[in-house]
Amino acid sequence: MSAVKNIRSLSLAELKEYFESIGDKKFRAIQAYEWLWKKNARSFDDMSNLSLDLRKKLAEEFEFNTMTVDATQHSSDGTLKSRFKTFDGHLLEGVIIPTEKRNTACVSSQIGCSLACKFCATGLMDRKRNLHFDEIYDQVAILNEQSEKMYGTGITNIVYMGMGEPLLNYNNVLKSIERITASDSMAMSPKRITVSTAGVAKMIKQLGDDKVRFNLALSLHAANDEKRNTIMAINESNNIAALTEALNYFYEQTKNDITLEYVLLQGVNDSVEDAEELVKVYRKIPTHLINVIEFNPVVGIPYLKSDEDTTQVFTDYLAKNRVNVRVRRSRGKDIDAACGQLANKNQA
Ligand code: SAH
Repeated sequence: MSAVKNIRSLSLAELKEYFESIGDKKFRAIQAYEWLWKKNARSFDDMSNLSLDLRKKLAEEFEFNTMTVDATQHSSDGTLKSRFKTFDGHLLEGVIIPTEKRNTACVSSQIGCSLACKFCATGLMDRKRNLHFDEIYDQVAILNEQSEKMYGTGITNIVYMGMGEPLLNYNNVLKSIERITASDSMAMSPKRITVSTAGVAKMIKQLGDDKVRFNLALSLHAANDEKRNTIMAINESNNIAALTEALNYFYEQTKNDITLEYVLLQGVNDSVEDAEELVKVYRKIPTHLINVIEFNPVVGIPYLKSDEDTTQVFTDYLAKNRVNVRVRRSRGKDIDAACGQLANKNQA
């Protein structure tokens, strides 16, 4: 069995080589490749312009590990959440968030998460395994089809803000973006893709070295190390100074957009002193935007969202200090589709 290869890990050249080796025509390889990356076949049986014999042979020699939709939920605000099932039975979630101008797909990069950030539902789950690049791609392709059906237009933007830490599944995340942006596949602009990280300094630098063309978001959530350590254990090995240095390096190498994310937790990180410290961090990072995120309640997690007045005072302070700040109201709360609520629960 170990000789069985994932057909989607083959390049077009390798696929051509394979077809030649079995005495078939090269153009069959092009047809098969189109099924894989343009027409988004879900099984060899879908490849209707290949002969039955050929489809059977491919099915014997290759794995084709597509994801299926296990359930879909609609929020009253238009947000759509889908639970996907992997070939080996794991569950994960992806979301489409429609606004007037865009349909943003939010995709997962791992099954569960190893980081255990104190305020996040996914953090309560164990990390089961990394998603393979074609599984990440499948989420995008399926959400795109759903978006076309539901809203009449496909997805316009992608955020890697679902379950998991993308930079701890680095190669698959990059390969998935290579496929999503490839001209022989979905051809989406990398400028419309944002990868969000809890902050892995070494891998942020690696993104710079790899000269990636997509945008980055850092889940900062606290502007001093002592506080950040208490809510995000990853800060103990990736502190704010290390992240600041890494983000400056990333920006020098790529000039791509960097956004800071800051979820407001009542009585934890929402005081004026916290805002003051945040301004100082903001000044050291080549970023143009702080997204202040409304906290979404999670069963079993003790934090509360900051009240309206406190949120206003906090964001006013930032704005007065020439920080470009945007408050992100949560979407899809009624179906647990909002940030930090993805944990495979409560679906019909
Ligand atoms: N691991 C990556 C990708 C997940 S993105 C990262 O941490 O960036 C999910 C975003 O939602 C992160 O900014 C995360 O910190 C935030 N988040 C997690 N739990 C939340 C909650 N309960 N309410 C609001 N935002 C939350």
